Amino acid sequence: MNKTLDYNDVFDSLHEECGVFGIYGSEDAAAHCALGLHALQHRGQEAAGIISTNHQNFFFHHDEGHVGDIFNNSNIISKLSGNTAIGHVRYSTAGKKHDTNIQPIFAELEFGGIAVAHNGNLTNANTIKQELIAKGSIFKSSMDTEIILHLIAQSKLNTISDRIIDALKQIKGAYSVLLMTNDSLYAIRDPNGVRPLSIGKLNESYIVASESCAFDIIGAKLIRDVEPGEMVVINQNGFKTYKPFAKQLNKFCIFEYIYFARPDSIINNNYVYDVRKNIGKYLAQENPIDADVIVPVPDSGVPSAMGYAKESNINFEFGIIRNHYVGRTFIEPTDQVRHLGVKLKHNANKSVLQGKRVILVDDSIVRGTTSKKIVSMVRAAGAKEVHMKISSPPTTHSCFYGVDTPNRSKLIAASHSVDEIAKLIGVDSLSFISLDGLYKSIGEAKRNNEEPQFCDACFSGQYPIELVDESNQNLPLFNNL
Ligand code: SF4
Repeated sequence: MNKTLDYNDVFDSLHEECGVFGIYGSEDAAAHCALGLHALQHRGQEAAGIISTNHQNFFFHHDEGHVGDIFNNSNIISKLSGNTAIGHVRYSTAGKKHDTNIQPIFAELEFGGIAVAHNGNLTNANTIKQELIAKGSIFKSSMDTEIILHLIAQSKLNTISDRIIDALKQIKGAYSVLLMTNDSLYAIRDPNGVRPLSIGKLNESYIVASESCAFDIIGAKLIRDVEPGEMVVINQNGFKTYKPFAKQLNKFCIFEYIYFARPDSIINNNYVYDVRKNIGKYLAQENPIDADVIVPVPDSGVPSAMGYAKESNINFEFGIIRNHYVGRTFIEPTDQVRHLGVKLKHNANKSVLQGKRVILVDDSIVRGTTSKKIVSMVRAAGAKEVHMKISSPPTTHSCFYGVDTPNRSKLIAASHSVDEIAKLIGVDSLSFISLDGLYKSIGEAKRNNEEPQFCDACFSGQYPIELVDESNQNLPLFNNL
């Protein structure tokens, strides 16, 4: 019998977290929201949703799948009335795949309706959930995001803004969160600013989105990033900003620059594309090797490979061609063809590879399974030598801040040296960019080892935000939806 094989079982990469988009004061709020989510599709392909308001009622539509398939006709968009909307694309980092886990989520509270969309992961979610359940709360999803609504509902403070702040002060972890009531849109970034969130403007409408590429698609202008620990409130009185949290050091996720963010996005005044090319440049300086051709593993390896090629004066060629039409799931006809899985996405371009000494550039090695298949594909296409350059340091630790990484025991770099990994994946040589090289690519002179300027915990094991649930062994398992 045919069975469905998950894309993630075959392609061994870290998974983007989620993307959020919100707009206030646009006649085409839902349409703009759908387009913005489409631009953020790379941040989550499992499900998407939009909730809008006409300042009296709320309207929502969500489903599993890609944005273009969910918001695929004008009837759906026209039912999402009102000039204010928030939306979300999801990859499940907390909470299993399930209809009740699609965001934005909505609740009727004492003061009226409220919707929430969240990118990130709370590190004390289960600890708080245990306390809330003990007090009588009933949860209908397994998402950490629902906890934010419960905490707002239970706050004894008077204004909605104060209740939101009160709730967020109780949670720990990474969050870029949008909340929408019938009169206001709130955009808040956690005090360490782990996940991205930017503000833009289109005519008189304000927009907030995970990445600036979501502004470009609707012709909006990037104003700036929401600052770590900042709460922006947008309503008929305009745009107001608050700093309700104690100031903390910035710990932006350095992996956003390497892989997660789209290369055409601007984060913290840096073009992601430029950072990736710089990574290639420093990778070439740190690990020079003679070869005939530089080949990126597309798409994420492309800018770094270009930077590497320019710095090393070696030809850049598309020696691996990517099929862009692979969905997240596909039918695996028989177990015998499972090993062909990688070819659904990548194929070797023999005209570039035959008889050549090849430098392959990729963004990361997680379990090593995909790298091994790609290397063997490149060798089968006639490459004489295969050298692999990785535009991140070895991934040795799991992420608890909104990126789906395998358990540490599954990360090949957690238990193998670089030489051992090279042997296992079948390359002639292997090198990773250093942490200092990575920091230099983003414009820092070097990494401050005492107090790193970014979150780089998956490479260093230095977790900047307390992992409360991880150290609490007595927690029951809640994610059983
Ligand atoms: Fe990003 Fe890694 Fe930190 Fe997670 S642990 S937030 S992936 S740098």
